[in-house]
Amino acid sequence: MSEEFICLKCKKSFKSKHSLANHKRWYNPKFRIDIQGEKNPNWKGGTYKYLKGYIYVYSPHHPYCNVKKYVLKHRLVVEEQLKRFLKPTEIVHHINGNKEDNRIKNLQILSKSEHSKIHSKGKNNGNWKGGIYVNNKKEYDKLLHRKIRARKKGVIV
Ligand SMILES: [Zn+2]
Ligand SMILES: [Zn+2]
Repeated sequence: MSEEFICLKCKKSFKSKHSLANHKRWYNPKFRIDIQGEKNPNWKGGTYKYLKGYIYVYSPHHPYCNVKKYVLKHRLVVEEQLKRFLKPTEIVHHINGNKEDNRIKNLQILSKSEHSKIHSKGKNNGNWKGGIYVNNKKEYDKLLHRKIRARKKGVIV
């Protein structure tokens, strides 16, 4: 029997002590200031930056912010969904190729190698069935169709 680590606050269960700790850290108000936005009286941010087509959010308390204290918005969106911080090895990919489309539906977590496979030209990249947002065949087909539609419109996915 595998051991489970359960968060007493939200009853979410985790596979390891480490991921539970990561989840709890995400809940820590110190780190949440940026994410909670206007609702938090300590929030001074809301500063956005565009760089190479990506949106960055000023998040000085984020454990993985860059030297300028910014974090990629799509990573924050996924973290909000997962209620934990993403590891630097987890790459968030924009399914339809639009880097500004940060809806959760358009985001997919991939490893570095899976991600570079998707972006390398000429390779069939429709075989990825894993990832947390594609956990059944129906959903997978939907995403695949969206990808094909985007390609027809000339968006490079
Ligand atoms: Zn919890
Ligand atoms: Zn990508």
